[in-house]
Amino acid sequence: MNAIVFHPRCLEYGAPGHPESPERLQRALEFLRAQGVYRFREPEPASEEDLLRVHTPEHLERVKNREFYDPDSPRYENIYEYARLSAGGALLAMRERGFSLMRPPGHHAGPQRVAGFCYFNNLAVAVKASGKKTLIVDIDGHHGDGTQAIFLGDPSVGFVSLHSFPNYPGTGLHHEQNCLNYPLPFRCGEEVYLRTLEQALTAVDREGIEQLAISAGFDTYERDPLASLGLTTQSYRRLGQLLAELELPTFAVLEGGYDPEALGPNIHAFLQGLWGGHGGT
Ligand SMILES: [Zn+2]
Repeated sequence: MNAIVFHPRCLEYGAPGHPESPERLQRALEFLRAQGVYRFREPEPASEEDLLRVHTPEHLERVKNREFYDPDSPRYENIYEYARLSAGGALLAMRERGFSLMRPPGHHAGPQRVAGFCYFNNLAVAVKASGKKTLIVDIDGHHGDGTQAIFLGDPSVGFVSLHSFPNYPGTGLHHEQNCLNYPLPFRCGEEVYLRTLEQALTAVDREGIEQLAISAGFDTYERDPLASLGLTTQSYRRLGQLLAELELPTFAVLEGGYDPEALGPNIHAFLQGLWGGHGGT
């Protein structure tokens, strides 16, 4: 059985009306538990040493002291502890080849920037800790601008992002060095999406790649309010299958996905595609 990484503390904070809500994970967790095909593991918080491979000491201090301003990313009490625990979720997912079902998400957080609901870049913390040459595929509906800022020009990483455009954060229009960006029109649908992903996986340099790390956002879903690319629950199974065909050791980290009812079924379909429909090996 593959592992889903989850810690109940990640449900402790939130702001009324904010789309990145504890309810979305609570409902997804209940759905995934009910499937009976996953084992659940609790992470430890990431250490400062882990975080400092990705972020500056000043950034850690700002998050710790809540001395940052981003209109999308509230200064929640104890956010430093919650963000460390979410980064720890990515670390455990990397070690277990599992899926981290944690919040806050991470892919907009840069070396010294809080942005777009993200405080620390969870996936980047795990990739750096692994020391492995990694292909990062970002399937969230928004451009993974923080991840790109961290790994641009890094010969040990290939980065692919498919995202809606025009949309937040407004970047990712063109390929840059080792970062391949595929902006797509809103609600483009499964056929265009999967064809583009196939092209991207062919185009990216996979020489010497040792693992696949997936920034798994589900805001591309057809009813998502923030970044819909018109995908259905079944699309996520096909997407998972396509990534499984790379035959690389793989881990995935939750990013967005703001339809609380659909998040669990969409994650399940994706993992069934990725792990072969039986909880995997
Ligand atoms: Zn997103």
